[in-house]
This record gives sequence, structure tokens and C-alpha cells, in this order.
Amino acid sequence: MSAELDPRWEWIDVGTYGNPDQWIKGECNHLTPDPVHAQPTDELVAHLCPDCNTQLPAEWYP
Ligand SMILES: [Zn+2]
Repeated sequence: MSAELDPRWEWIDVGTYGNPDQWIKGECNHLTPDPVHAQPTDELVAHLCPDCNTQLPAEWYP
């Protein structure tokens, strides 16, 4: 895998014999989720991934 690829995402190798270094962005790895706290209890209720805007479970750990 090329070092230039963003580690926040899965990358799918779509290279061909004549053009071997081709990648398309796949699944998000959700590496930097932001915790979401309920108010006013401050209970951790979810995480939100800023890279793909997906809501993740409170117990999410990348
Ligand atoms: Zn994500």
C-alpha cells in the first residue's frame, strides 16, 4: 500500500496490469470519533465520526 494513502480510510486496490497503483476510497476506519455527551447529565451516549459523519455507539473504540 502506498504511504500517501490516508490511514483514516480503507483503500481498495483497483490497479490493473498496465496501471498498477490505483486505489479507491473504501470504508471509513472512524479513527478519531468525537464523544457525544447528553445534557445535562454529561452521560456518554454516542460518538460521531467527523470524517464520514457517521454516528457510532457510545462504546466505540477505534
Ligand atoms: Zn468514519
